Amino acid sequence: MTGQERSEEKSECVSLSPMMEAVPAPPQSERVCVFGTGDLGRSLGLRLLQAGYGVVFGSRRPHSSSSLLPHGAQVLGHAAASQSAHLIFIAVQREHYDFLVPLANQLKGKVLVDLSNNLKKNQYPEANAEYLQSLVPGAEVVKGFNTLSAWSLQNGPSDANRQVCPIVSLIMLSLCYLPGVLASFLQLYRGTKYRRFPNWLDRWMLCRKQLGLLSLGFAFLHVLYTLIIPIRYSVMFWVTEHTVSLIRENRTTMFDTTTAWHDDSYLSLGILGFGLYVLLGITSLPSVINALSWREFSFVQSKLGHLTLLLCTAHTYLYGWNRFLSSSTYKWYTPPGYMLCLVLPSVVLLLKLLLITPCVDRTITRIRQGWERGADQRNPKDSQPLIP
Ligand code: NAP
Repeated sequence: MTGQERSEEKSECVSLSPMMEAVPAPPQSERVCVFGTGDLGRSLGLRLLQAGYGVVFGSRRPHSSSSLLPHGAQVLGHAAASQSAHLIFIAVQREHYDFLVPLANQLKGKVLVDLSNNLKKNQYPEANAEYLQSLVPGAEVVKGFNTLSAWSLQNGPSDANRQVCPIVSLIMLSLCYLPGVLASFLQLYRGTKYRRFPNWLDRWMLCRKQLGLLSLGFAFLHVLYTLIIPIRYSVMFWVTEHTVSLIRENRTTMFDTTTAWHDDSYLSLGILGFGLYVLLGITSLPSVINALSWREFSFVQSKLGHLTLLLCTAHTYLYGWNRFLSSSTYKWYTPPGYMLCLVLPSVVLLLKLLLITPCVDRTITRIRQGWERGADQRNPKDSQPLIP
């Protein structure tokens, strides 16, 4: 690098404000360059920094770059940034690739990674990487990383245990209890139980057993995944690593009572919820149903069912704990999956709470016993029979 280029780099270099997620200081052993400070550029830059690379962004406006850029990266103009690394990721839309033409000389011999995707198939006569190569003939163009989304790069790898099984299970359990609650409100509104529910609600109510069994299946997978956590290589590695580093540095960590309470309550609610889940599953077996009276069956499926939903929802709320209040949880300003999946069960539980308040419960019970609102004044011929 010439002295002039160095001074150019120095003058254009901007110190960035910290990003939401603090990144450990990278060793800066090897520098890579990312052209474009948009969604993908920022996310890729963050991951590269976390992997220990030094990252230099090339931008049209290095002095007014987004405050969302990862802490520890530099932002320079395109020309200066391209001088600081051999490998350059082009995180810019293909439509704007012509900005590279004046840089063709500086990019000679560099490796350019084309990250672009097109909106439509066969949108252009040649592939984006071929187009890039034609603009910068002296560079080595490779295609890659275009199948990764900025979102997944920001959020890290998905964990089936943490993200899929419990979320699907909780949502399915809520969907199992939502139609019953809606049916009760419909009866309250109509003031009678002698009118057919809409077909969609009828069919939904008939699916409740299948929904419940599927949700039990996902809950079971969640339990299995949780049980194997201690024997996972990555967990054993980090536990050992942490212990060894404590010994090496002659440090001790204090026992945190709040964390212990939180973990114990979170696990206890999960275990209780799963126990009741299994009971619900068992009582939906035909041989068991035949042995139960109607009162026993409805106690288990309705009362214990809603209790299961409550325990599992509380288990998930405890999982979130104080993360609900931490801004770093809301990557890209959106709540994570475990928070979003709480919406439906919370709504179902709130509606159920309304239904069991004494005044509403009294009316519902009377309706279920055959009472009809305004039946005295109404002509009996007006009421629509349940079975025509
Ligand atoms: P974006 O958020 O719109 O960012 C594009 C960046 O390109 C801008 O922030 C800007 O950075 C730079 N740019 C815009 N116009 C320019 C111009 N005329 N000349 C030079 N630079 C210009 O787009 P993105 O979502 O990051 O996507 C970037 C590329 O990655 C696209 O080709 C896309 O197909 C591909 N990709 C994106 C994703 C994804 O999840 N987003 C996934 C796979 C592939 P400066 O203001 O700093 O110059």
